[in-house]
Formats: sequence, C-alpha cells, structure tokens
Amino acid sequence: MEIQRIRRAAKDLLKSRKTIAFTGAGISVESGIPDFRSAGGLWERFDPEEYAHIDAFYSNPEKVWMMLKEMFSLILKAKPNPAHMGLADLEKMGLLSSIITQNVDGLHQAAGSKNVIEYHGSHRTLSCLKCSKSFDGTHLTVEDLPARCPSCSSLLKPDVVFFGEAIPWKAQTLSIMEAKSCDLILVIGTSAVVYPAASIPFIAKQRGATVIEINKEPTPLTYKISDYLIEGPAGKILPEIVQEVKRLREAREDY
Ligand code: NAD
Ligand code: ZN
Repeated sequence: MEIQRIRRAAKDLLKSRKTIAFTGAGISVESGIPDFRSAGGLWERFDPEEYAHIDAFYSNPEKVWMMLKEMFSLILKAKPNPAHMGLADLEKMGLLSSIITQNVDGLHQAAGSKNVIEYHGSHRTLSCLKCSKSFDGTHLTVEDLPARCPSCSSLLKPDVVFFGEAIPWKAQTLSIMEAKSCDLILVIGTSAVVYPAASIPFIAKQRGATVIEINKEPTPLTYKISDYLIEGPAGKILPEIVQEVKRLREAREDY
C-alpha cells in the first residue's frame, strides 16, 4: 500500500508548481537525535515543558543547561540521514522550493539544502539575556558548555525558541508566505501539536495545497487536512520517492 502512495507522491511532486516541506523532530530521529514524543532517550528524563520553557531558563539557567548540554552533545555529532538527503536532492532537481523546519539541529543545511527556514531558531548562535549580545557558537565543543557571556559572564542562551517565546519574526513571515503560495506541502516527522508551527500545513491547505504526510504514525492532521499519509520511517520513504521521481522523469511517463 505504501508503494502506491510513494508513486502517488512522486507524481504529485512532478505535477506541482511549487512544493515546500515542513519538518519536525521525527526527521532527525534516524540521525540519533530523539524527538519529544516517542519513547526513549533524553526527553524521558527531561520533561520539555519544564526544561524548555523560557521561565525555567530565567529562574534556573544551570538546570536548563543540564538538558541543553545533552542535547548539544547529540546534535554536534549527528549527521544528516537519507531523509535530509532526499529533500536536498529534490531541491537540486528543482522540485522543492523551501524547507520550513521546527528543528534546531542544522541537519538540512548539512545535507546540502539551501533554502531552509528555521522556525524555532538554531543552536549555532547564542545570546546573553543580560547584555543582549549575540555570539557565534559554531566553534563550541561539548567541553565548552555551558557557555558564558565573555562580557558579563552570565550563562548564554542558545537562539532556539523555548516554550513561551515568540517565533523569530523573519522566519514566521517567510513561512507564512511559503505556505500561502505552495500547491503541495510535505509534512514530515512532526506530531503537529506545537503551535503556532502546526498552523503552517493548515495555511497551505486553506489556499488549496495538497498535504502529504510522512510519519511513523497518524497525527492530528491525518484525518483533518492530510490528503494522504505515507506511514513509515522518513529515512526510507524519502529516498524511495526521489527514486520514483527520477524513474518517471527518465521514462517520460504521463503523470
Ligand atoms: P515531536 O517529537 O512532537 O513529534 C515527532 C513526530 O515524528 C512524531 O509524530 C513521530 O511519530 C514522528 N517520527 C518519529 N520518528 C520518525 C521517523 N523516523 N520517520 C518519520 N516520522 C517519525 O516533534 P515536533 O512535532 O517537531 O515538535 C517538537 C518540538 O521540539 C519542535 O519544535 C522540534 O523541532 C523540537 N525538537 C527539535 C529537535 C531537533 O532539532 N532535532 C529534537 C527534539 C525536539
Ligand atoms: Zn552578557
């Protein structure tokens, strides 16, 4: 059955005038970074609602850094997986306009994708909440963490959006523009329960876009707005879609 849907997705991609992808933590699970909701790993010990809330950072940054340090140690050694590579391939083939990602791990860029909108910020820069300075963190290793402000020595906060914080203005504006102007959206590895991020597929659907979900299980979108769900690991499904797109193009089959 998934084979039929993979074929259908390849055809939908080839027919589409503008396709975007909306990705969540699930796309990076096969790179060794656990998502929030599946069992196992980091988030069983650190409740994200507690540790990833901005109030927690203000009241106890040392405690939040215990979680951040573990998350950074996974991110810093993670490599893009075939799902990230598949999306980069689609962009190179001229079939994907942009990726809106909720992830902060930078793995889409590492896979070679150029047009990536980081909806929840990134781990690569850090800011001082006290003196408002921003710092490049790309040279940091796990041993350097938690990082302190060179000017006032407060603990720095990575520029990732915590619960209770606003979405970066530019990412929010660009995402809405992309969602309003696409006619196909691939929704990959997100439980679609974190708002306002989860409104992106709804905005696309409202404008008449086709919604294809790729996920290990159904989500709240599945029976509401998804045209269809391709159920399984993104690292297996995306390369299969890319392969089918190439096959159809070479065969010049009607789609
Ligand atoms: P989530 O944890 O709520 O949901 C992950 C979804 O991915 C689930 O529906 C799950 O079934 C699915 N999934 C898991 N493994 C998969 C796989 N191999 N293939 C396909 N689907 C798979 O994640 P969310 O919706 O992104 O929301 C959590 C928030 O926390 C987001 O902002 C998220 O980006 C952030 N976060 C980021 C990272 C990261 O940067 N890698 C990691 C954890 C959490
Ligand atoms: Zn400072």
